[in-house]
Amino acid sequence: MDGLLGTGRRLLPDSLNLVARCKTQWQCGRFYCNVRAKKLVSQHFQSVNLREDSLASQESKPGEMTCKSQRLMLLAGLICPSSPGCYHYMPYTVRAMEKLIKVIDQEMLAIGGQKINMPALCSAKLWKASGRWKLMGKELLQLTDRHSQEYCLGPTHEEAITDLIASQGSLAYKQLPLLLYQITRKFRDEPKPCFGLLRGREFYMKDMYTFDASKEAALQTYALVCKAYCRIFNRLGLQIVKVQAATGSIGGTMSHEFQLPSDIGEDQLMMCVNCDFSANVETIHQGETHCPACKGELVKRKGIEVGHTFFLGTKYSSVFNASVHTPQNTTVPAEMGCYGLGVSRILAASIEVLSTENAIHWPNLIAPYHICLIPPKKGSKEEKGAVLLEDLYDSIVQAIPHVEEEMVLDDRTQLTIGKRLKDAKKLGYPYVIIGGKGVLDEPYQFEVQNQNTGEILFLSKEAIIDLLSKLPK
Ligand SMILES: [Zn+2]
Repeated sequence: MDGLLGTGRRLLPDSLNLVARCKTQWQCGRFYCNVRAKKLVSQHFQSVNLREDSLASQESKPGEMTCKSQRLMLLAGLICPSSPGCYHYMPYTVRAMEKLIKVIDQEMLAIGGQKINMPALCSAKLWKASGRWKLMGKELLQLTDRHSQEYCLGPTHEEAITDLIASQGSLAYKQLPLLLYQITRKFRDEPKPCFGLLRGREFYMKDMYTFDASKEAALQTYALVCKAYCRIFNRLGLQIVKVQAATGSIGGTMSHEFQLPSDIGEDQLMMCVNCDFSANVETIHQGETHCPACKGELVKRKGIEVGHTFFLGTKYSSVFNASVHTPQNTTVPAEMGCYGLGVSRILAASIEVLSTENAIHWPNLIAPYHICLIPPKKGSKEEKGAVLLEDLYDSIVQAIPHVEEEMVLDDRTQLTIGKRLKDAKKLGYPYVIIGGKGVLDEPYQFEVQNQNTGEILFLSKEAIIDLLSKLPK
């Protein structure tokens, strides 16, 4: 024991030394030190190496309808095509989506939502009972199992949830309003998938289903969820328009779409120039050119539908016997609502409306990483600035620990700063910090570029820490 302790004591100064040394090296000895490894761009898995000329082979078919978000996401290696309308989501995209899901979860939980998870495989029996097996026809991705049982891969889950509720007996009025939601993969057999993640065959959707005892209560719940949707889009900094909409194959008696105005949008909107009135053109009488609310002029705009809410009434609950026990000791069919948010579509749509032709701009809340540090090129006259940039990285981590998760170091120092800056623009880090010419100045400075505003600042280490400490957590 003594001998062991002795050895330990003798080793101690050496190992301390290692900890101190590895802080100033590019690659730290992970076995010896407690300094966590830096996130290095050279180690990140991306589908294409951010090359414009590799785009041609990435796109599935010549003549396919493409759009800015699809092109930018392919160029940045954020998505990789797998089959028509299906994409692999690469690590940066998954990070962005997980952040988006976190925002959605926060707002759904804030209004009393409870998260569930239902099978993607949905029995045809239920869809036939609601009449939608035929109604949706080929849009449903249908399949048959080895026992000749028919299924579809669910595009939405009204049948499944209503059947689930019915199987539990009547809901007690004290449980109401009941708000259940899930964020899962959904499927639609699109005849012509296009626009990347905007209109795919497989996508992520948040779908919420609500249950109430009366129409009045259900309408209050409807308003509550719509408000939560507005908060989500506000937090993302997306200028959403809520429009009256047709109920389509989902059904019900009232419906609203949350539309993001964009020229590539597939929905035609009519918006009043004087008041808040806006509607999907499907709901407007043909030839109507004036606002039904204030008689103001209606103007046309195109929009990308990113959310859709429906007041369903008892359309599904009466078919599947989903009922509510009232305080008066009676049992009535549940008054339902359903509420969709296109999760993967919001990702692509926000890139579509915020980005320039060459640079992705994310909503700050969901940018995969917030900060990219670019040290000087190996062999350049600024090379000695590499140490300063690494010291900056460590100082940021020490001063604002939560920023560590949001920071990457572009260690591909065989490339020029310009080349790496171009890649950083493609990926859309809100902040890029460059160890360029300013690192040779006395006192030294770093170049800080805000990619979203185009602002360029030359700042000291302390000023950068001050700036980054104001980033939202
Ligand atoms: Zn009006």
